[in-house]
Amino acid sequence: MIYKRVALIGLGLIASSMFWAMRRGNLAGEVTGYARSAETRDTARRIGLCDRVCDSIAEAVDGADLVVLAVPVGVMGAVAAEVAQHLAPGATVTDVGSVKREVIDAVGPHLPEGVHFVPGHPVAGTEHSGPESGFATLFDNRWCLLTPVPGSDADAVARLRAVWERIGSNVEEMDPDHHDLVLAVTSHAPHLIAYTMVGVADDLRRVTDSEVIKYSAAGFRDFTRIAASDPTMWRDVFLNNKEATLEILGRFTEELFALQRAIRTGDGDHLHDYFTRTRAIRRGIIEAGQDTDAPNFGRGSGT
Ligand code: NAP
Repeated sequence: MIYKRVALIGLGLIASSMFWAMRRGNLAGEVTGYARSAETRDTARRIGLCDRVCDSIAEAVDGADLVVLAVPVGVMGAVAAEVAQHLAPGATVTDVGSVKREVIDAVGPHLPEGVHFVPGHPVAGTEHSGPESGFATLFDNRWCLLTPVPGSDADAVARLRAVWERIGSNVEEMDPDHHDLVLAVTSHAPHLIAYTMVGVADDLRRVTDSEVIKYSAAGFRDFTRIAASDPTMWRDVFLNNKEATLEILGRFTEELFALQRAIRTGDGDHLHDYFTRTRAIRRGIIEAGQDTDAPNFGRGSGT
């Protein structure tokens, strides 16, 4: 057991998965939970999510030595302001937000002296959300990035690292701005591109009479999976990782124009070289153990 009492604020995909993984590893004496809506709290009670589901932040945070902010990035500051009033001295506050710089700036100023702030981001997820979407193995063999701030207490960082490791993650420390740039490439921009592609298909649906749904091939289906992700979470990610996302999208647009031009001018060499380079990236991800090499992600047939 690493913490006596852990409070999960927000009971969605990430918090519920953390609960099941912490229970699997016997990492906390007691886990309390709070969610904004009575509906989510009732669901949590019904499925046994958390040892105790509380009706207020005050009750959930009371006596906790680790508080996890697991709400959308855009409300982290407001939630931290309320959490801060009930924190025990020496407690650690962490978050699981997909963006780090804006969250640090929004949360940090609310936390009182003597409380340790160790921001974090488990790089694992699915397109599902809510208290029933979590599962204990979500973080197994995935990365959890901790982005300590100046003055972060070394022992507090080490303890949080130990929890994530025993939850099943590989943990690395990273500078918050660097984190936001890396994630803009690996997660944020790809999500925006998926949203766009599915939006284009939706517009076309009207002229193709639903054929894009009926004949949807694996390439498009993969986009629709990503584009089914929670609208609130992703709105907040883009609004709070503005600079890095715009930088990557600028580069993306340039590359897209170059490929567009290669198609127009019949430059097959350019296309072939490009696709050869990108194929190597896929091999790298599989070799790093971050995805399966089964065709179509092991889901059976499809192109
Ligand atoms: P989720 O399943 O949509 O759950 C969000 C939780 O936050 C819900 O319990 C919700 O309460 C609560 N909440 C929403 N707005 C709130 C507010 N204004 N005040 C208080 N509570 C509020 O979300 P999630 O996927 O677990 O994501 C949580 C965090 O993890 C986000 O910051 C996200 O960026 C980050 N993250 C997500 C993923 C992913 O793939 N999903 C991966 C890594 C990190 P109600 O149910 O009562 O509305």
